[in-house]
Amino acid sequence: MDNKPEFRVVPSPNSVPGAERARILENPGFGKVFTDHMVTVSWDLDKGWHDASVRQRAPFQLDPASAVLHYAQEIFEGMKAYRTGHGTITLFRPEENARRFQASAKRMAMPEIPEELFLESIEQLVRIDRDWVPSGDGSSLYIRPFMFASEAFLGVRPAHSYIYCVIASPVGAYFKGGEKPISVWISDAFSRAAHGGTGAAKCGGNYAGSLLAQAEAAQHGCDQVVFLDAAEHRWVEELGGMNIFFVMDDGSIVTPPLGTILPGITRASLIRIARDSGITVEEKAYSFDQWQQDAASGRLKEAFACGTAAVVAPIGSVRHAGGEFSIGGGGVGTVTHDLRQRLVGMQRGSREDVYGWLHS
Ligand code: PMP
Repeated sequence: MDNKPEFRVVPSPNSVPGAERARILENPGFGKVFTDHMVTVSWDLDKGWHDASVRQRAPFQLDPASAVLHYAQEIFEGMKAYRTGHGTITLFRPEENARRFQASAKRMAMPEIPEELFLESIEQLVRIDRDWVPSGDGSSLYIRPFMFASEAFLGVRPAHSYIYCVIASPVGAYFKGGEKPISVWISDAFSRAAHGGTGAAKCGGNYAGSLLAQAEAAQHGCDQVVFLDAAEHRWVEELGGMNIFFVMDDGSIVTPPLGTILPGITRASLIRIARDSGITVEEKAYSFDQWQQDAASGRLKEAFACGTAAVVAPIGSVRHAGGEFSIGGGGVGTVTHDLRQRLVGMQRGSREDVYGWLHS
């Protein structure tokens, strides 16, 4: 049943005219405008994957009893297509997104889309909407594959039908101000994920549960929320949409271990780049108490957040219920800057792709 369906390609008759598209691409913002097309592939218990198409982006018609609207059986991915300095379009490690999407599906009792079908769906959309890939500094085409339970049934069990879809949105820099350090709020009231929970899956419910904490961060004047572990409220886990790294005065790097956090592709890539350049990277539990002590003693030199959207964002200041402190004088540290340059350089084609991470 996992035969790969052929894509039916129906170009949109209502594509945005070139001049208007060019105007939009000059300043696309983040996640506000979308390309002309979308991919959909259906799955059901009898037929497996079928009806693959690339067509005009349009609203779904959903039965009010669709399982996703009740029990949140939904997963997604986030990746970018970059226009390189040579004018070609590349994807960064899309196989990793395919694998993580499968892992998320498994955790949410959903069908796992074959890697090859996932990759082809992305390629199809990028091909037909290639003129939407911006070329401005820090800009890219953000690609959003997702899948939801479409069966009209109110029983609580894994649904028997699903829709997989891919949409895309041209984006500028995630944080206005480029490499400017961000501020973070340590959530003392909320947790994101517990052992045995869904923290390692990229499912919509995790984000619904994080919104109030993120709103609280904004109320405290911070860009992002940092979650601590659910059991002891002691160990640093990750941000609302990014992983976190700490750079020590001996040059070593610490980052929280996998388990309840999202296994970030940027995180894995930075660990590899850092280790290969001789930096010691430890994936180990790091407490908020330790973070405060290390910032006060000067042992902690830099901290940064990382993810597809923001790539690498230095953390300049930290606020929590008991006060606030800054890291490395609130500026951009050299290790953070250097790792960011190396990763961005590879993604944009100005540095050699030594790991074979680019997919054209
Ligand atoms: N943690 C969370 C909760 C996220 O949403 C993201 C963004 N996908 C990340 C970490 C970073 O993952 P990646 O580097 O694969 O974008």
